[in-house]
Amino acid sequence: MQRLRLEISGAVQGVGFRPFVYRLAHRYGLAGWVSNTSKGVVVEVDGDPEILAKFAEALLKEKPSLSIVQNIRSKYLLAAGYSSFKILKSTGGKREAFILPDLATCLECSLEILDPENRRYRYPFTNCTNCGPRYSIINAIPYDRPSTTMSRFRMCNKCRNEYEDPYDRRFHAQPNACPECGPHLELWDSSGVTLAKRDDALRRASDEILEGKILAVKGLGGFHLITLASSDEAVRTLRSRKGRKMKPFTLMSPSISQVSEFCMLSSEERESLQSPRSPIVLLKKRDKQNSSLIISELVSPSNPEFGVMLPYTPLHILLMMEIGEPVIATSGNLSDEPICTDEIDALHRLKDIADYFLVHNRPIARHVDDSIVRIFKEREMVLRRARGYAPLPLSMDLEAESVFATGGHLKNTLALSIGRNVFTSQHIGDLETTQALRAFDDVWNSIETLYNAHPDIIAYDMHPDYISSARARESQIRGIPVQHHIAHVYSCMLDSGVRPPLLGVSWDGTGYGTDGTVWGGEFFHITGGTVKRIAHLRRFPLPGGDRAAAEPRRSALGLLSELYDDPVKHLPPDTFSREESDAMQKMISSKLNSPLTSSAGRLFDAVASILDIHQTTEFEGQAAMALEHAIGNRETRESYPVEIIEHPCEPMVIDWAPLIEGVIMDASEGVDRGIISAKFHNTMAEGIAAVADRAGERKVALSGGCFQNVYLLQRVLDILENNGYEPFIHRSLPPNDGGIAPGQVMAALLINSEK
Ligand code: ZN
Ligand code: ZN
Ligand code: FE
Repeated sequence: MQRLRLEISGAVQGVGFRPFVYRLAHRYGLAGWVSNTSKGVVVEVDGDPEILAKFAEALLKEKPSLSIVQNIRSKYLLAAGYSSFKILKSTGGKREAFILPDLATCLECSLEILDPENRRYRYPFTNCTNCGPRYSIINAIPYDRPSTTMSRFRMCNKCRNEYEDPYDRRFHAQPNACPECGPHLELWDSSGVTLAKRDDALRRASDEILEGKILAVKGLGGFHLITLASSDEAVRTLRSRKGRKMKPFTLMSPSISQVSEFCMLSSEERESLQSPRSPIVLLKKRDKQNSSLIISELVSPSNPEFGVMLPYTPLHILLMMEIGEPVIATSGNLSDEPICTDEIDALHRLKDIADYFLVHNRPIARHVDDSIVRIFKEREMVLRRARGYAPLPLSMDLEAESVFATGGHLKNTLALSIGRNVFTSQHIGDLETTQALRAFDDVWNSIETLYNAHPDIIAYDMHPDYISSARARESQIRGIPVQHHIAHVYSCMLDSGVRPPLLGVSWDGTGYGTDGTVWGGEFFHITGGTVKRIAHLRRFPLPGGDRAAAEPRRSALGLLSELYDDPVKHLPPDTFSREESDAMQKMISSKLNSPLTSSAGRLFDAVASILDIHQTTEFEGQAAMALEHAIGNRETRESYPVEIIEHPCEPMVIDWAPLIEGVIMDASEGVDRGIISAKFHNTMAEGIAAVADRAGERKVALSGGCFQNVYLLQRVLDILENNGYEPFIHRSLPPNDGGIAPGQVMAALLINSEK
């Protein structure tokens, strides 16, 4: 007889690991115990060495599907003389166990709520060990019911029996509940008066949605605004009340088969939609004639894609079943603020938008938005990382000091490294409003408490005015400022696992450069612990500075002023009034409020303006996106000339002058805008390859918001691969500023770490 001790770390709590071990021990007739610890799960069993080995093998092979085993330490010891197998109480200590994200309702729970014979028939808060809320209800770890927002509900006897039975699917399912003992729904009018409760509330809510009303619905990680997608009237009302003109709304559809009626679906896209992560997936719209479903043109105007998700909680499943057709399910917020999580707050903030409020009494511990992904080359690329993904960590290949990072200014997230793991927070958003700042502070606090974090270093963006950086500088911990575009590249390194030496390409809208100019079209040679900026796009002035982000015409004017004496002549007529263009040209010539930029994003904007695709925009990246979409199905390998100017002791410069002259020439000759756009994209991709040719590194890491552009990304990958390079891209961290924080962690640890 011997004793086997297994210490298992990773995502092993809240996924049914202990009951699984319990059942396995019984199958092999072994005595001992299993327990949750702050690091994961520990198992001890007495038995014949041969049987112990089989037990360990089966444990790894048959582990619960939702668990992620990161590491197993096994030890053979003297037998302890256990007489039975027990599940012991959780123990405390240093917290390293993973907190699981919220998981979409599993098939078994879905069937139960649709079964009139089941005691959970039509119960919107049904869950089990394989599904349901996690991160959005946790106040502390280890993950046990008293440390969740379910602590206020006392389990009834039936639920308690399930909870305590290791052979039950709900054994230790912390949010376990039923209509007798759990949370319930209420329907409120916009002044907070209760109109209906429980199932009546649900039925009445779906009736109101079918009538074309706008409902604020409290879900898993916050509120949605829900309205009928088929009704122009409803969508127009939502747009005007939300102050959102063009930005696409997300759709929720009752079933995958219905999604396939209005979107093209690959097998990977299906898999992603139906996964426990249940993200919003960006899908290509189908031609209308193939479907009898009506979806208003106003849902996603002048955009070839829909963002679509499936119902991922019992509440959404029941609601969508009643409605039977796609609805808009957009974040319950005023534009750019974080989503509401509390019903009283929602009543306050959303009273002018929503006609009714469908709420419940299970508190949300923290806001968690819907995640957004796209399938690129058969795999997910995460564009917004929140529900279903956060806060699962990525693993570094080094054990290092603990670093906390405060991220960028837009699409903000926070990150924390403990040991080998880098945890990235859920999406917080643009730090432009007091609400967003409060969310930033809340998430920061909750990361510190949940992980009992004592970071050695705090990393932040170099920008002198970012509030995220100011917050970091106020802290007492040793600070390391990280340049924005360098953080992007290190984010890609963490995400893809690529290590130096490499060429890092960092293209986005804007970021603070170390030379006082606005960067955004950058190339870095990274060797060991050193980073050298080896190339950038040619600079041009941005009249009005930050205001250029919402007015592509400003980028165009600044860019054209570098090439022509009368730049306005090369812009579409009426782009500017006489006064506007005079004022702006004065700004440029006097160098007042006209910072120089090497931004790739602004170059895309400029071309969108020259081609009269967008002169002003409503949301970040809108012009570049429209420029990409203009290509449609057009196929051309043509491009404009790329000129690289090499300096003896300064970075190389990619000169866009021949490119812009080519665009203007083609436009004046009436060449199709889609073709011009394709040639422009091809040229940009060739520019990257031209720098790669001079950098002398085989590995190329691509990061920054510009690489959300699928056409650009595909062209860059094709050209690089065809020329013998090995490109690396983002997958589970966003290429946009949502990936900045984990990149800052990596940069703080790796730069200057090797001589
Ligand atoms: Zn379930
Ligand atoms: Zn119950
Ligand atoms: Fe950026």
